[in-house]
Amino acid sequence: MTLPLEVNTGSLIGSEWVSGSSSIDVINPATGGVLATVANATITDCLAAVTAADRSFESWSKTAPRVRGEILRRAYELMISEHEALSQLITLEMGKVITDARAEVTYAAEFFRWFSEEAVRIDGDYRRAPSGNNWLLVSRQPVGVSLLATPWNFPAAMATRKIGPALAAGCSVVLKPAHDTPLTALAIADILLRAGVPDGVVNVVVTDQPAPAVEAMLNSGLVRKLSFTGSTRVGSLLLQQAATRIINCSMELGGNAPLIVCADADVDVAVEGAMLAKMRNGGAACTAANRFFVHESVLEEFTTKFVERMSSLVLGDGLAAHTTLGPLVSQAQQHRVGELVRGAVARGAKVLCGGSAVTDPAFGFQATVLGGVSADDPLLKEEIFGPVAPIVSFTDEREMIQRANDVDHGLVSYVFTKDVGKGMRIAEALESGMVGLNRGLVSDPAAPFGGVKQSGIGREGGHDGLLEFLETKYVAGSW
Ligand code: NAD
Repeated sequence: MTLPLEVNTGSLIGSEWVSGSSSIDVINPATGGVLATVANATITDCLAAVTAADRSFESWSKTAPRVRGEILRRAYELMISEHEALSQLITLEMGKVITDARAEVTYAAEFFRWFSEEAVRIDGDYRRAPSGNNWLLVSRQPVGVSLLATPWNFPAAMATRKIGPALAAGCSVVLKPAHDTPLTALAIADILLRAGVPDGVVNVVVTDQPAPAVEAMLNSGLVRKLSFTGSTRVGSLLLQQAATRIINCSMELGGNAPLIVCADADVDVAVEGAMLAKMRNGGAACTAANRFFVHESVLEEFTTKFVERMSSLVLGDGLAAHTTLGPLVSQAQQHRVGELVRGAVARGAKVLCGGSAVTDPAFGFQATVLGGVSADDPLLKEEIFGPVAPIVSFTDEREMIQRANDVDHGLVSYVFTKDVGKGMRIAEALESGMVGLNRGLVSDPAAPFGGVKQSGIGREGGHDGLLEFLETKYVAGSW
């Protein structure tokens, strides 16, 4: 099949696209067929990429912030001018519906625009010491060569959310995208080269053996920063590996978002928010609502309206105009989601709509609502990562907050209530890095995105995202 835009399928090492001795098939989840093959980077390739990043670091870190910003701005403009082709590429390799892919490209490009503006806002401080005897001079320096590892669910945005601030700060990078969805990352690397990024500042390696490849790069002695987005399990493993050399780490890990509908919520607003929080990306989002806590007094109305909306989704190939729910990314993920639903049903949950895998699209799973889920069902401890919404009813608000917090994750929570004061009190009490108040979407390039507990360390986006790639230097001066 011809791709919607020309993609270099080699590893990008320095200025070269290197083809390599073996390759990886990229599968279209809608058909199960092979979409393209990309070079499978060896450990030698990965180390060459780190070396290329190291060689380019000094001159890039000294490049004027305005120049770095203007390159990012050009990359933003190129992404916007190639918006539709990039969107189709995302749908082809990842499966999400084209409208979600278009929204992702807009969101992803915005990280380049935002950080093009942040590049010239790297601040410092100059103060007299409290003793009055000397001066405190504080500046910021780029942390150094950065290894960026990203997941398959947002192949564009997870890459630009890291590359944007890294380049703005003056760091050179090696991007290691998930091998299920490498084409978008390779297309974005090409855009960055065309935008004027110097040789070696951005390198990309794709490998189906990420564990030894990432370990070798972390142990190369050249990598100073690891910025990882992915599962909590792998994040924990990488933190242990990074500990050997005390590598600076930013971690965006798994979520298990509660979505709380209070007795006084506007139910229509809550249903709209629930659709967005659950079904953006077909449920394959770290921010996906994973546990629905609905007050008993609005349970029936919310459930009826929500089931109606979920049942009306059209499952199909994400590229088809009428499709409103695409397939999952892989057969393994399709089996996993099926197992989770079967387990909950065996323990007494009721399937209110959907509930099954389908074969057209190849890795499809129906939009599913599970009612009557008991508050201590093991399903509620799992990150579902698919179009399945378990509903639990509650009466006591304090007990509900305790349950909402009774998980290892703490990325995002959603609260629906007409009483904003109460909403703020609940938001304060929830153990999560972000809260959507009467909104089912929190992502914004200008906002600090990130989690607490096992959902991660650090923030991406906003000004905080830039600080993740900067070290603070303090000079004690006497003059
Ligand atoms: P994953 O952890 O399996 O993979 C993420 C990345 O790590 C990929 O590049 C993969 O190749 C690499 N990797 C896998 N095993 C590795 C290992 N042993 N050593 C080194 N690298 C390894 O995650 P995934 O399945 O691609 O993505 C889904 C997960 O990502 C979910 O848990 C989701 O919540 C999380 N996620 C979090 C955010 C966030 O911002 N917090 C955003 C998107 C996705």
